[in-house]
Amino acid sequence: MRPIIQHSRWAAIVALLVASLAVAAQTAPPRLIDAHEHFDGEPGVLENLLAKLKAADGIGFLLVTQKGFPEASKFMHEHPGHFIGFGDINLDDPDVLNRIDRFHRAGFRGLGEITSSQKNYDDPSYWPIYDRAAKYHMILLFHTGVVSRENPDRPENVSFDRMRATRLDLIARHWPKTIVIGAHLGNPDYAEAAEVARWSPNLYFDLSGSSLIKMNGNYKYFRSIFWWSGTTSSHTPAGGRNAFEKLVFGSDVFGGELGEFDDGLARYHAMLDACSVPPDAQAMIFSGTMWRILQQQQKEMDADKGN
Ligand SMILES: [Zn+2]
Repeated sequence: MRPIIQHSRWAAIVALLVASLAVAAQTAPPRLIDAHEHFDGEPGVLENLLAKLKAADGIGFLLVTQKGFPEASKFMHEHPGHFIGFGDINLDDPDVLNRIDRFHRAGFRGLGEITSSQKNYDDPSYWPIYDRAAKYHMILLFHTGVVSRENPDRPENVSFDRMRATRLDLIARHWPKTIVIGAHLGNPDYAEAAEVARWSPNLYFDLSGSSLIKMNGNYKYFRSIFWWSGTTSSHTPAGGRNAFEKLVFGSDVFGGELGEFDDGLARYHAMLDACSVPPDAQAMIFSGTMWRILQQQQKEMDADKGN
């Protein structure tokens, strides 16, 4: 019987290896997809992030800068199935299209966090960038709303106004197959963000950042923002999903500090519970929506390869 046992062990090992080769090979969704994790080459962070994701049965969208790219690519290759690579691009970089090509060749499946552009996000001069992303079926993650000012003494060409959530309306409409995520729900213009997402099936938002800290104690407010659950009317799109499903989970961990992973999760749960969002809708927010999107993206990429 010994050879049979060995054979089944080998079969199990091979099955594990095959399953780990690609996230999309998984049949069941993970419990958590964190769509917003920054990596800028900070030492030891990827190991800690991996441990957090494993403990949470999670997958992370890793937003990788040029500086973090060599280490992140190697690490993701060595630990398949836990991270989805996003290339951190600058819309005003003259070499941006080549950078997108390089991220694509490395197996990255999205771009972001796009932020602090010199023109409005929807400026036509940026359209070749969105065309290139669409060609590769890449997901776009944009910072929306107020933005930090890290060096107040230094002059900078940055304005919140160019990064309003409403700047994603045109992008979502013009590239209807591209999945667009706006980070921070347009803080503080939540109502505008939710309204543009309501009419665009390819537009989602995360609620990372200071909003859930600011609104602590007033979480029910978000019911007035995501108001249309169960509404049947010619004035709102058909489909019937819970309005809160325009949200996806994002922790926005950055600078090697991972505390926001747990804190952000706790705040999301507290807000969704306060708003009586049912468990099936919460499962979509924490994983199901992005999982469905990743599966669809995999199909489109496979079709391109002629598989
Ligand atoms: Zn941001």
